Amino acid sequence: MDDTCMTEVWKDFLNIVREEAGNRIVETWFKAIAFDRWDALQKVVYLIAPNAFVYHWVKKNYLSMIQLHLGRLLHIDMPRIEFVVHGVPKMIGTNGAERAVKVIPASVLATDGAPLQSLSKKFALCNPHYLFDNFVVGPSNSLAYAASRAVTEQPGLRYNPLFIYGKSGLGKTHLMCAIGNEIKARHKNATILYQTTDRFVNEFIGAIRFNKVHLFQERYHSVDVLLIDDMQFISHKEHTQEAFFHIFNALYESRKQIVFSSDAFPHDIDGIAERLRSRLTSGLVTDICEPSMETKIAILKKKSCTNGEQLSDDMAHFIASHGFSNIRELEGALVRITAFAALTRQQITEELVRKVLARASQRDAEKTVISFKKIVKGVEKHSSYTLEDLCSKNRAKELAEARHIAMFLMKKLTGKSLRDIGGFLGGRDHSTVMHGLQKIEGHIQHDSALFERVKKLENELVGT
Ligand code: ADP
Ligand code: MG
Repeated sequence: MDDTCMTEVWKDFLNIVREEAGNRIVETWFKAIAFDRWDALQKVVYLIAPNAFVYHWVKKNYLSMIQLHLGRLLHIDMPRIEFVVHGVPKMIGTNGAERAVKVIPASVLATDGAPLQSLSKKFALCNPHYLFDNFVVGPSNSLAYAASRAVTEQPGLRYNPLFIYGKSGLGKTHLMCAIGNEIKARHKNATILYQTTDRFVNEFIGAIRFNKVHLFQERYHSVDVLLIDDMQFISHKEHTQEAFFHIFNALYESRKQIVFSSDAFPHDIDGIAERLRSRLTSGLVTDICEPSMETKIAILKKKSCTNGEQLSDDMAHFIASHGFSNIRELEGALVRITAFAALTRQQITEELVRKVLARASQRDAEKTVISFKKIVKGVEKHSSYTLEDLCSKNRAKELAEARHIAMFLMKKLTGKSLRDIGGFLGGRDHSTVMHGLQKIEGHIQHDSALFERVKKLENELVGT
């Protein structure tokens, strides 16, 4: 088998694992492994692992999956798997003699060619516009604000860690960055690292893949203030949690300030190891709630001032009374209103506000009228599959296609995120949905019957 063929087999294998175990597993573990060669006669598949950690983990958890699927693709019944661990051969399931140590070219390990840029000394920065000065304080956020201020007075000494939680768009990132910016202004030499949990997870995955876990740890150990945003995304990521736990302990013991944000109270975040959860709550936990009418008005007035526009009290009140529960949406509405007024050279009046906001809410309504459930009902009607089938792990060809059609229509008709769609369809992650979308979009282009079927279903859904 030539190299191209091997690459194709490995790709197919990764796709199967992705469907079966989820993209996270593939990205964390399987992308770190390279397919070296196979011996059809001896029924041995040779794989390369970048380090002992990856080797042990994959062996312990995924050996039978590898044997099954890779074997099937290579037409070998349950092959023996042999790993080469960074130059040290490891045999699995055999008493055979060890192979000679193999030198692995770097290109084999960096399977997608991505260098580990994220481990450079470059730190993510706090958004410089998020300051205490332009944060409007009201009853919904006053405790979180006061605690954040206190943290900047004596970083690491009071309220460590500080954990701020609240729904999306209520100012958590703003406050975190305000802490970072304020400490930086007071202590020029302080190393402040603001990091989203998503990026933290990805960096960690990169570190494992490229055998740079020690660099990763070192980088985090060297900071004075660590701000970790959207901590809920660490849920169910056991290894990242473990790595984070050690970083936390090291920083905490050296009295470095740590601040977390999350969309939920630590006890309500699913899939967090107990020992990490107890660390998260060991300092001060404070929430941000939905703003009151007065706070919304104050925010509108403040934001409109910064934009150089004058918003009257009446208009601020009128806009605020439109039931925005989240400040990001409130800001968005203000931007649309001021832009519309400026472009059409009109004053901001009740009528104008009503017009702009009505348009936006009509758009939202059109998008959400078609719900996931309705789409699934449509798919059920046109195929023999039920919601339960669509959510299952079964990858039978026709079922997988029905599932992909559901994903496609969900994306097209609801505008919801891939994450939401995957969550609804049996807890699949966003890359699995992405993969499904790419598949169906590709098929539609070549298969006119399929195109017609999907179009018909879509018309029915939109028309009903
Ligand atoms: P979260 O991180 O909780 O989702 P953000 O911090 O991103 O929310 O806030 C969303 C937007 O609302 C940002 O533009 C932020 O500046 C603004 N914002 C939130 N709370 C306030 C506040 N109290 N005063 C002024 N602006 C705010
Ligand atoms: Mg945020």
